[in-house]
Amino acid sequence: MTQVKYQRVVLKISGEALAGNNGTGIDPTVISHLAEEIKSVHDLGVQIGIVCGGGNMWRGETGEKLGMERSQADYMGMLATIMNGLALQDGLEHVGVPTRLQTSIEMRQIAEPYIRRKAIRHLEKGRVVIMGGGTGNPYFSTDTTAALRAAEINADVILMAKNGVDGVYSADPKLDPTAKKFSELTQLDVISKDLKVMDRTASSLSMDTNIPLIVFNVNTEGNIKKVVMGEHIGTVIEG
Ligand code: UDP
Repeated sequence: MTQVKYQRVVLKISGEALAGNNGTGIDPTVISHLAEEIKSVHDLGVQIGIVCGGGNMWRGETGEKLGMERSQADYMGMLATIMNGLALQDGLEHVGVPTRLQTSIEMRQIAEPYIRRKAIRHLEKGRVVIMGGGTGNPYFSTDTTAALRAAEINADVILMAKNGVDGVYSADPKLDPTAKKFSELTQLDVISKDLKVMDRTASSLSMDTNIPLIVFNVNTEGNIKKVVMGEHIGTVIEG
């Protein structure tokens, strides 16, 4: 195998990253781009688990603001992540990458249930495992799911794929021209400086599990491969 820094990774793809410039829904050109990028890393023999978000279609918080019961709205969000998972699975299989979609909420006709040992076995056999449905619990996020699944499958790193943003900044770089990009941080920095990386539950779980997290721009071609090979791009956050 070519020298890779990380042998087993969890790639967190937010719903927003699947929407492309549209902001909502699923952009097939984005799916194709991501599939090619993931394939280039799969070809190196890297074991890849993918946790997808659902914010391109629905967020529980939005439903709550509209007067819905929060858990009910969160289940809709979890279902959105599974639709994204199916789209990603389709994209990956179009470029010849073997996959399995596992979901935390059972829907046997379209996906396997998430079973930790099975997920690991698939990874060992070279299948990309897409983990849909979040944690399966309301009030959680897919960032927390990524932190949780990374710990469960003993991943070396969590790769946080961002849509157009190349790391963590002191402020929103689109709104504040003085915003400074961090090269390295700790999860404690993220929590104490209230940086917008992941929610607090996800940060504190990552702090406990001590799995590093790399935030990078997935839109730039070759970036996933660079990160996996150990090139320092984006922001590296230690546990
Ligand atoms: N969600 C949930 N529990 C989980 C993961 C997700 O209830 O364990 C719901 C929640 O409503 C959330 C939505 O699914 O708003 C979409 O997930 P998320 O916001 O994490 O997606 P992303 O921002 O990454 O696109």
